[in-house]
Amino acid sequence: MDECVFCKIARGDIPAEFVHKDEAVFVIRDLNPQAPTHLLIVPVRHVESAADVNDPEIWSSIMGRAVETARRLGLDKEGFRMVINTGAQGGQTVPHIHLHLMSGRNFGWPPG
Ligand code: 5GP
Ligand code: ZN
Repeated sequence: MDECVFCKIARGDIPAEFVHKDEAVFVIRDLNPQAPTHLLIVPVRHVESAADVNDPEIWSSIMGRAVETARRLGLDKEGFRMVINTGAQGGQTVPHIHLHLMSGRNFGWPPG
């Protein structure tokens, strides 16, 4: 946890561009955006992946905040993509659960 990049951002040990922060969840701009708008919705509490979530409050905080943020920024007008990469084959690179909220271009299906 001490070495976790998102825990460090939550503590203010490394900088990030915050769009929202409260005691349960924060929203930052992705360092390496894959769309014109690419945000990360991150619970403050360290949970490694979606497969490790036991408290449903985690789901309500990140899903609720993602949709609230999408509406607040007007991303709902054209649409958006929400993704939670989970584990090695799921493409997860940071082992602290986070939801990608992306918007501003067309997203293909099936995903790569
Ligand atoms: P994952 O691959 O785990 O689904 O997503 C991790 C995301 O975190 C990637 O999109 C990556 O660009 C982003 N990321 C990694 N390190 C940092 C950082 O220090 N700051 C920010 N803002 N994003 C980061
Ligand atoms: Zn963490």
